[in-house]
Amino acid sequence: VAPKIQAPRGTFDVLPEEARGRAALEHLAREILEPAGYGRIETPAFEVTELFARGVGESTDIVQKEMYTFEDGGGRSLTLRPEGTAPICRAYVEHGMHKQPQPVKLWYLSSFFRYERAQAGRYRQFWQIGAEAIGSDDPAVDAELITLLASLLDAVGVEGVRLRLSSLGSPAGRAAYREQLQSYLRANEDQLSDEVRNRIDLNPLRAFDADHPGTRAVMERAPRLLDSLAPDDAEHFAEVRAMLDEAQVDYEIDHSLVRGLDYYTRTVFEFTSDALGAQSGVGGGGRYDGLVEQLGGPPTPGCGWATGVERIRLAAAAQPTAPTPVDLYVALAEPAARATAFGVATEARRARLATHQELAGRSVKGQLRQADRLRARYVAIVAADGTTTLRDLAQGTEEELAAGEVVVRILRERGMG
Ligand code: AMP
Repeated sequence: VAPKIQAPRGTFDVLPEEARGRAALEHLAREILEPAGYGRIETPAFEVTELFARGVGESTDIVQKEMYTFEDGGGRSLTLRPEGTAPICRAYVEHGMHKQPQPVKLWYLSSFFRYERAQAGRYRQFWQIGAEAIGSDDPAVDAELITLLASLLDAVGVEGVRLRLSSLGSPAGRAAYREQLQSYLRANEDQLSDEVRNRIDLNPLRAFDADHPGTRAVMERAPRLLDSLAPDDAEHFAEVRAMLDEAQVDYEIDHSLVRGLDYYTRTVFEFTSDALGAQSGVGGGGRYDGLVEQLGGPPTPGCGWATGVERIRLAAAAQPTAPTPVDLYVALAEPAARATAFGVATEARRARLATHQELAGRSVKGQLRQADRLRARYVAIVAADGTTTLRDLAQGTEEELAAGEVVVRILRERGMG
């Protein structure tokens, strides 16, 4: 026997039952986002590597060690998309969307790829639902996006949801704060973990993420970004908070909230669920006012979020989704009836009846058992000469008719004919 081949580490198959649950989630997302003015967008599964190097940030974990990068036949460096915001901003610029009424509001449900350590809730190919509003710096955009994600998580039944909120300010303020934090970290270097110490120059903010006890103690006394926001950034953040209060969306201010991507400015947020283990993040996002310009477009503010489909499915109370009910099971009274029966099944499907046909060489008894198992409403037992017994399994009645009459008979009885 040939050795078995398994799905690559960190990937999974979505089997029909789970696919139905995910389809229901997609449906809810559409119902919440489209009426709020968000239109669906699809971007390619891979992009030129430069997009993520510039858009996500050279110093981020994603760009440093998590990208699936390859050369294509023409020697171009391409990367399977690790996230959705940079590609959407690329599309915004490429299609001149800044000429449309602003903000341009888009949503997506796509798969993303990161070479991460695979574990429960963390995969190498995963799906995200995301929303972006590009072209307005109104704090109502931030509040609208956060409120829509809260509504989605609520609608799908994610349990134990908490929202953490912060503001990173503007790039200039952040740069000044960064230097302040770097000198503070250097002054306390001996108490930090090696990893944090080695990254003081590259990414000092990540020190807030550390689990290392010494580092944590240092970070408790560290200067905080929220306390050093420029007046207009502080005002923007206050307005976002006032709107969330008005909308009765609960949140906690989290001074140590840093997101794993470089492009954020001003508002950042993260939703977690107590129903999840170590990987407790269900969704997050923020404002990225410099990103479009960084990708070669005009200076354009933007804001957005992404939420993980698998995390939502793990954190939401299981709602079993039933397969499509079967209207008709077409059975064979004898093997020679195959073609006639096939004609009945095809006619029924063209009439939009949910129809299964016998495909496994079962005995008549076996076929009836199978129809029962499927909870089919009707069974048509077709003979080679076209004589057909039509059983109504719900009513327990039965009649004889010609094969060509079966579909009309069912439609009439159901008031569809
Ligand atoms: P991020 O794009 O890193 O801000 O992640 C946004 C959301 O996507 C997270 O809150 C998770 O729900 C989900 N997510 C991120 N990375 C993964 C992954 N490797 N596997 C599964 N879900 C993920």
